[in-house]
Amino acid sequence: MNATNPKFAWSQIDRAALPKRPAVERVADFLEIYSNYDEATAQAQASRCINCGNPSCVQACPLSNRIPEWLALTAQGRFLEAAELSRSTSNLPEICSRVCPQEKLCEGSCILNARTEPVAIGALERFINEYAFAHNAVTPVLAAFNGHKVAVIGSGPGGLACADQLVQLGYQVTIFESQLVPGGLLVHGIPAFKLEKTIVARRVDLLAKRGVEFRLGVRVGWDVSLDDLLRDFEAVFLGVGAQQTKPLDVPGAQLNGVIQALSFLMQNSGECWLGPGDPVEVVGQRVVVLGGGDTAMDCLRTAVRSGALSATCLYRRDLANMPGSRKEYANALEEGAVFQFLASPVELTSTPDGKVNGVRCVQMTLGEPDASGRRKPRAVPDSEFLVPADLVLIAYGFDPMPFPEGSDFCRVATNEWGGIIVDENQMTSVPGVFAGGDSSRGPSLVVHAVRDARQAAAAIHRRLSVGAPV
Ligand SMILES: Cc1cc2nc3c(=O)[nH]c(=O)nc-3n(C[C@H](O)[C@H](O)[C@H](O)COP(=O)(O)OP(=O)(O)OC[C@H]3O[C@@H](n4cnc5c(N)ncnc54)[C@H](O)[C@@H]3O)c2cc1C
Ligand code: SF4
Repeated sequence: MNATNPKFAWSQIDRAALPKRPAVERVADFLEIYSNYDEATAQAQASRCINCGNPSCVQACPLSNRIPEWLALTAQGRFLEAAELSRSTSNLPEICSRVCPQEKLCEGSCILNARTEPVAIGALERFINEYAFAHNAVTPVLAAFNGHKVAVIGSGPGGLACADQLVQLGYQVTIFESQLVPGGLLVHGIPAFKLEKTIVARRVDLLAKRGVEFRLGVRVGWDVSLDDLLRDFEAVFLGVGAQQTKPLDVPGAQLNGVIQALSFLMQNSGECWLGPGDPVEVVGQRVVVLGGGDTAMDCLRTAVRSGALSATCLYRRDLANMPGSRKEYANALEEGAVFQFLASPVELTSTPDGKVNGVRCVQMTLGEPDASGRRKPRAVPDSEFLVPADLVLIAYGFDPMPFPEGSDFCRVATNEWGGIIVDENQMTSVPGVFAGGDSSRGPSLVVHAVRDARQAAAAIHRRLSVGAPV
């Protein structure tokens, strides 16, 4: 192997993890746990890319980010050019780089996995984009108005990305958002220790400077009808997400001390508190979280930061079949969370005054893979056991929130779980009305919402600028 050949830098340079605060320090606050590479480390890490002929990282990135090209520029110290290239395919690169489960996407496909550790794509995407912000290189250039107006419903990553694409093409874009703080789950779900709210606010501010109008506190479907929108705008993008919680269907689900994950995360987000109601009292409590996704892990880590005596995750499958990000699982373990796999709740027990005091579980075993490829859990007979709990958080996922009965939004066709049905251009059953992100996919990822939004924006542009059907 030739160590002087840049093709073999990976064999000389180990992958460097992002600087991470020690667990004992980070559980005392809600600030981000990672900081950035320095310039020399970024260059060295980028040089580990071998620029392979068929870059599978690009195929595995839902945005087809031009990863090898911006890695090559980064390796040469041309950080601003690298960031510009990164922004050409992504509207929220500084956010995706923080929250994408890279091990399942770009980095999981890196060819170096066969020999050593993958190129640190997420960390480098974060570095170049933060570098660009720090050097005032992300400027709100105003495009000339092209005469067309578009309404975007929801200001999550889908809504923000769609608005950003269109405003840069000269559209007059108005975002309608039911909450008073824009950002969707980026601010009202994903905790600040993964993504500080100031990072989202900086992006929102940039969009506002580019000319996007934010109408906050407007609940479309209730306060504004579809016909109102279609009268005032030539196209509509529905980025309303999926925030209706799936219920826990066992006896005791209504007891005091049983709380839905999203309310808990909104109320217990430290100084970044944005939710309605007071923070849930957690100090000294034994917190049990039901579920195995990102939301469950965020609840565990939020509980630890809120002073829980213990934070235990009960998940009915095993680690290999758990949907949550491995990076966040490792962080949760470091911070003191406990995972109990192959455990499924059958009943919540209570004190005489109706307060939850335990989760009765049954031991599970895994059978054959189902249609989705995941192994189906089965209960082991006579295997019940009790996990003591003072607070139980339900993190079983979400469905889209239906529009009110009788609303003209009911013209927009949905599937059996309430997801908005879209075609290959993200257009719904109503011509000129598009949708994407969690509202059409069900609970997914930030990067998927951005991808759908870009696809919808391109179709809206084709429809309005050249009169194509989409
Ligand atoms: C706790 C948690 C942690 C997560 N962690 C990660 C992670 O680490 N990495 C990752 O990639 N993904 C993560 N996700 C998933 C990710 O946040 C979502 O996939 C993504 O935010 C979906 O974007 P969206 O734009 O479709 O919807 P949302 O982000 O849900 O935004 C929808 C917006 O529409 C608004 N809205 C809804 N109805 C109306 C209406 N009628 N009128 C006006 N406004 C309306 C809502 O208030 C909201 O602001 C997490 C999700 C949760 C809940
Ligand atoms: S957007 Fe996500 S998948 Fe794509 S390069 Fe960035 S971190 Fe990787």
